[in-house]
Amino acid sequence: MSDAPLEPSPGQVTIDLDALADNWRALARLAAPGRCGAVVKADAYGIGLDKAGPALWSAGARVFFVAQFGEGLAARRILPEEATIYVLNGLEKDAGPADYAQHRLRPAIGSEDELQRWSEEAARRGPASPFALHLDTGMSRLGFESLRALKDAVARKGTATGADLLMSHFVSSEIPADPINAAQIALFDAARAAFPTLPASLANSSGMFLDARPVYALARPGYALYGGNPTPGTPNPMRPVVTLTVAIQQTRWIEAGATCGYNAQWTAKRRTRLATLLAGYADGLPRGAGATDAKPGAEVVISHRRCPLVGRVSMDLTIVDVTDLPEEAVGPGVRAEFFGGTADLDDFATRSGTIGYQVLTGLGRRYRRDYLSHGPATDKGA
Ligand SMILES: *Cc1c(COP(=O)(O)O)cnc(C)c1O
Repeated sequence: MSDAPLEPSPGQVTIDLDALADNWRALARLAAPGRCGAVVKADAYGIGLDKAGPALWSAGARVFFVAQFGEGLAARRILPEEATIYVLNGLEKDAGPADYAQHRLRPAIGSEDELQRWSEEAARRGPASPFALHLDTGMSRLGFESLRALKDAVARKGTATGADLLMSHFVSSEIPADPINAAQIALFDAARAAFPTLPASLANSSGMFLDARPVYALARPGYALYGGNPTPGTPNPMRPVVTLTVAIQQTRWIEAGATCGYNAQWTAKRRTRLATLLAGYADGLPRGAGATDAKPGAEVVISHRRCPLVGRVSMDLTIVDVTDLPEEAVGPGVRAEFFGGTADLDDFATRSGTIGYQVLTGLGRRYRRDYLSHGPATDKGA
């Protein structure tokens, strides 16, 4: 889990577990009368499953999704006994069905081969352990390739005995106008009609906000829990969870025409004051986050003002243009906020040429991590 240092560090990540719990409760209200799960793959999107898991449980989450078997084991250790845990990637080749069953991990089975292995094990052990059936409705990634393939496989293996969830995954739910959303919902509805007794799950964070509200029995939000905007281009309905601040080490003035950073990608158009921040791509910052002469870049907030990153991000350092700040507002030790309360995660990621998901899951190991939790744990959103 998060083995990041607690000693002082120039880069500090603050994780607001109360905001995480609030976000889950808000999504649970949106999902009602369906249930709301919590996707905690990739160490809870980089924020630390050991802290996020219990906070989500206290908020009322009972159904959790990880990507890999190994993550399922970790989640099983961290979460209370009664937690339901699905493994989205399915039945891996290196972990047998018995391993999943032993730890009560429910694979999202997406091929006849996986279904075969699962039902053989069930035949050996008696009553089948629960699992999900995963139908591919457009991602061409995981899941049964068509409803016909799914129906045939289930027919050949007898029944879907033990299956307790029918799921699929959106391709473009963060773009509500994309016609593929409706096409996927139609395919999924046909599958639901074919398996009318199975609880159904289709929506990720953004899927929950589509006009069609395709939540069915169970929603599977991840990103929105952690403060990401599930409705890009419109105001973020979620509370920010993760704040990243990085300290300044040095400042300097450079003349118009001078450049900064590797390969001299950015040229000062005026006499410019630069500040150098103590984090770089080794800490997960996108290498292309800084402006170049060819394109604008991301911004950080220093003393309540937005300041552009300039030049290539280096391994351990990032340069920011602070010319427009009062001279005395900037100096060694002053912190720049990359995202959090005042700077926006999605905005930072977009301007850096990536997405907030990648920024969160890439948060580096050198940052100090502080977890905030004030309110008493409650259960009222369940
Ligand atoms: C990651 C994932 C989710 C969660 O998606 P978000 O966009 O983070 O809400 C849901 N379902 C599946 C299959 C996933 O892989």
